[in-house]
Amino acid sequence: MALTLYNSLTRRQEPFVPIQPGRVGVYTCGPTVYNMAHIGNFRAYMFEDLLKRTLRFCGYSVTHVMNLTDVDDKTIRDSRAAGISLGDFTARYKKAFFEDVDTLRLLPADEYPAATDHIGDMIALIGALMAKGIAYQADDGSVYFSIARWPAYGQLVKVDPARMRAGERVSLDEYAKESVADFALWKAWSEEDGEVGWDSPWGRGRPGWHIECSAMSSRYLGPHFDIHCGGVDNMFPHHEDEIAQSEAANGCRFVNVWLHCAHLIVDGEKMSKSAGNFHTLRDVLERGYCGRELRYVLLATHYRQQLNFSFQACDDARAALQRLDAFRRRLREATAFADAGTGAAKERSEQALEAFRAALEDDLNISPALAAVFDFVRDGNRLLDEGTVGGPGAAEVLRVLERMDSVLGVMEADAGEGIPAEVEALAGARQAARKARDFARADALRDQLSAMGWTVEDTPKGPRLRRS
Ligand code: AMP
Ligand code: ZN
Repeated sequence: MALTLYNSLTRRQEPFVPIQPGRVGVYTCGPTVYNMAHIGNFRAYMFEDLLKRTLRFCGYSVTHVMNLTDVDDKTIRDSRAAGISLGDFTARYKKAFFEDVDTLRLLPADEYPAATDHIGDMIALIGALMAKGIAYQADDGSVYFSIARWPAYGQLVKVDPARMRAGERVSLDEYAKESVADFALWKAWSEEDGEVGWDSPWGRGRPGWHIECSAMSSRYLGPHFDIHCGGVDNMFPHHEDEIAQSEAANGCRFVNVWLHCAHLIVDGEKMSKSAGNFHTLRDVLERGYCGRELRYVLLATHYRQQLNFSFQACDDARAALQRLDAFRRRLREATAFADAGTGAAKERSEQALEAFRAALEDDLNISPALAAVFDFVRDGNRLLDEGTVGGPGAAEVLRVLERMDSVLGVMEADAGEGIPAEVEALAGARQAARKARDFARADALRDQLSAMGWTVEDTPKGPRLRRS
């Protein structure tokens, strides 16, 4: 079997063939850093993380680039409203974004280029389009891409270019465009931009949003690369415009495979501030859930299906993860037992890993992949109950479970890791109190741990700490 992916460009699920054997270049549209990313954004980043981990699982080496949009209408507007410089304003949200990436265990990208560090690349790309006569400078000073002069426009959405932007709001400073369908490559400076602006051959101004991704993807991955991802809302006009600009300027194909995830909705409704169902990662953490629980929720629905977020789903994720963690702990203990020598564990492990792999290779089909994991947990627990798995057999099951988790990234952190020193100290004091038969003190310490969100389980091998 080989990896197949649903390509939005051809609207078909196709075998994945990299440009260079064994290597994959992936570009993913990153956050606009003017506020906290919401869990819908993280749905997109999570599907991209699953893609990347699956590619690695399949043996590819992956170069992943994610941009940070740190100059656009919204970042300028809000930094001015806050009365601080654009750079200071966006730095705040870049930092918050990286903290969230860490909490959700997203593998870091190889490059996080910021738009403001690549203005020169964007000017060069616009210059190439001007030289080819595909872009023009209008009377308002802005530079536009002419759809009429690029007949290949419309590969992704396949709509009539003459009608496609009819419903879009046309801002006042765009009255000078030749056609309403044309989009800005370079926006001439205006009063609202305040301090923000760069000099260019077309005067002071700033880049349009779409050109950012064209310039930064080719800077790090070359003009033709393997995979470009984003949420479904990015398909038009953002990705359509990226294709047009890049292919027109570079004279070669831009991207082989386009992948788009469906949206996250909340309790069946669109997430919006006014509906009061708008959540950031931090909101979810404040309700007592942890990063890997939300990670599981975001992963568990196939990326091309709408994900219906609910706190019930977070509770279900918690229960699922507790099963996984408990199974892993049992296996670790069982590695110390004698080998039962039945071979049952090895056979079952191979089967489980194959089912898991086959599901992911089928366009990241997560539901059967998770079913393979939990069937494996059920059968593994049964073998442990029967005493037919131990020693090397248990180690083999453990190895397969951890290999699966290299894709899922949800199992509990290793012993010690993630348990705060203060919690460890309280647990130690409780154990000492128990030994001294001071049960009142031991109970008080247990309550204190519980108030901090930790449960102590007394096992024959000593106390074990677990997040409650
Ligand atoms: P933005 O910061 O709005 O450019 O969005 C960053 C990424 O999040 C893009 O790939 C969007 O398509 C994606 N995105 C935004 N809202 C949602 C949502 N509700 N569900 C899934 N993806 C989303
Ligand atoms: Zn983009």
